[in-house]
Amino acid sequence: MIIRYNNFNNILKNERVDKMNSLTFKEKLKEKGCKLTTQRRAVLDILLEQYGNHLSTEEIYNCVKVTYPEIGLATVYRTMQLFEKMGIIDKLNFDDGVSRFELKREEEKHQHHHLICQHCNRVLEVEEDLLFDIEQEIAKKYKFQVTNHNVIFYGECENCIDKPEE
Ligand SMILES: [Zn+2]
Ligand SMILES: [Zn+2]
Ligand SMILES: [Zn+2]
Repeated sequence: MIIRYNNFNNILKNERVDKMNSLTFKEKLKEKGCKLTTQRRAVLDILLEQYGNHLSTEEIYNCVKVTYPEIGLATVYRTMQLFEKMGIIDKLNFDDGVSRFELKREEEKHQHHHLICQHCNRVLEVEEDLLFDIEQEIAKKYKFQVTNHNVIFYGECENCIDKPEE
């Protein structure tokens, strides 16, 4: 079964984009010694523009191509690998067979959680970590320091919860 996540939820997009101006990311890359070539900047611009969405490499490529037709898929692929290594993006796996990416948030210590509606495939973001107690418990019981997590909750979103099965 191929699941497509087209209905990305980006209600909070505008609010966040203000906070996350591109300068922050450009500075972060510079700090880490990464040269911001035209191609890399084109990819970064799309990630900012699409903030709140969770795009695959191919989807990012399709967006970049509009303003930068010379760019190749392989370049976008390598750029995503580089950005991930530089720690400015997170890679996500929503079980639909492709890796998806989003910009890492400044204020976020650990990756935020995702809620996937199994009816409409909408993806919602959970703003709070909520796992603090569990992380403490793990540290105590297993002598293991949690540095990150990748949590997906599956279920029904508010639009689908009361809808009868079609
Ligand atoms: Zn956490
Ligand atoms: Zn839904
Ligand atoms: Zn997300």
